Amino acid sequence: MTLDELKGLVRDVPDFPKKGILFKDITTMLKNKDGLHLTAKLLSERYADKGITKVVGIESRGFIMGPIVAEKIGAGFVPMRKPGKLPADTVSESFTKEYGVDTIEVHVDAINEDDVVLLHDDLLATGGTMYAAYLLAKRFNPKKIYVSFIAELDFLKGRELFPADVEIDSLIRY
Ligand code: AMP
Repeated sequence: MTLDELKGLVRDVPDFPKKGILFKDITTMLKNKDGLHLTAKLLSERYADKGITKVVGIESRGFIMGPIVAEKIGAGFVPMRKPGKLPADTVSESFTKEYGVDTIEVHVDAINEDDVVLLHDDLLATGGTMYAAYLLAKRFNPKKIYVSFIAELDFLKGRELFPADVEIDSLIRY
């Protein structure tokens, strides 16, 4: 399977979750065994030699490939969740956008200064969610933070929120 064929497995759902949004549905890619395999292979190959110790998945679709990639590259997995979901002590970070606030939480003992962190989510749109996750991870002062997505909506310019030295990578671009 090629990357173009992989891209072809992502389903467009118009007007979800609200009118005017063209939702990129990765479930049609994940249910295809070759699609799942190639996604896991490409993501993990890219980060195999970076010394990553923790893959941090962003709720909720970052919880699908995040643990698979973590296992493949020999790292641990950490969930970053929406407020009120994690059971033990947490720290949180909010990012205010033009319309509304993105808040994300992680356990206080989830990341440490010796970690090399890979933040992962399914899709980069405006970037608010991942930027809050980046700020939160940064508070732990890890050695390095990488950012990874399965797909990115280029026209929303989400990557421009991040400092230029942050390595951001997406398998599929729209
Ligand atoms: P954002 O904070 O705007 O970058 O939004 C990113 C989050 O919302 C990710 O967790 C995505 O799963 C989801 N998301 C936003 N827009 C879309 C879209 N058009 N298609 C699929 N998922 C989206």
